[in-house]
Amino acid sequence: MKKTIFVIGHINPDTDSICSAIAYAHYLRERHSIGRNVEIIPVRAGNLNNETKFVLKYFRVKQPPLLKDGKNKNLILVDHNEISLAIKNIRKANILEIIDHHRIGDVETIHPIPFENEPRGATSSIIGERYYCFHVPFTKQMAGLILSGILSDTVLLNSPTTTYKDKILARRLAKIANVDIESYGRKMLEVGCDLINHSANKIIVTDFKTFGDYSHRAGIGQIMVVDTNTALKRKDELLKEMERIAKKKHFAYIFLMITNILTLQTNLLVVGDIKKVKKVFKRPIKENMVILPNTVSRKKQIQPKVLNLLKLK
Ligand code: MG
Ligand code: MG
Ligand code: MG
Repeated sequence: MKKTIFVIGHINPDTDSICSAIAYAHYLRERHSIGRNVEIIPVRAGNLNNETKFVLKYFRVKQPPLLKDGKNKNLILVDHNEISLAIKNIRKANILEIIDHHRIGDVETIHPIPFENEPRGATSSIIGERYYCFHVPFTKQMAGLILSGILSDTVLLNSPTTTYKDKILARRLAKIANVDIESYGRKMLEVGCDLINHSANKIIVTDFKTFGDYSHRAGIGQIMVVDTNTALKRKDELLKEMERIAKKKHFAYIFLMITNILTLQTNLLVVGDIKKVKKVFKRPIKENMVILPNTVSRKKQIQPKVLNLLKLK
């Protein structure tokens, strides 16, 4: 019987998780002469955002199919390793491998598996390095996808998560993909910025991550913008929707990072126990908003504080 292995990123997928899945599936097929009885399929764990759609269209790669349920599936996880960010029934899946650049989470396996985790700008970057190490040739498409994953997660190599390796790799990949990092990256990020024109709900949940357990959890959404003031015109509406989601879905806190890709400032909206938020962020909070200059990374600059916040009982 044919064995099927799915390569999958996190729910509410971003460009890095989709491009990592596609590029890693391609790598595995190229590197190992996979027999007819094994197929490796990149999949997505949700709808694609406009930025990712732009990337796939630009490099003429088709959208991976949707996988909703992990039960009894053979999975390779990319760009996540915690249950709250994984597809349904992840506990009932057979996890074969994990490649990630986030904190170590709570996914458990029965057998030992290859698990590569490194603090890098993007999971795509770790995968790109593997192509080099094992002499798997980059096609123009794969170079383009891996580059896009890196540029998206690092906000054009500006995030404090960006490493030297990411920068070197991005330069090499841009040559193979035949794009200019600055102009291509800017265009790609700007496409993602159009999210602000959608409903408050969509703005909050499109790039949304949940931390903590069901009894006491926090959600952090992030939206990229080119004009903070225009985005802030919708502040009251956004806060109202954040309150509604918090109540309905049992979140102690909901944050929304409004990150300006040009100034690299984040205006962080928050609902929940403001006193405690103040204590953890050590910054003034005015009308449910904290202004954070030079802040673009949820993972490195916001999430650790939110995890501490959840510990304050
Ligand atoms: Mg991601
Ligand atoms: Mg990532
Ligand atoms: Mg991201």
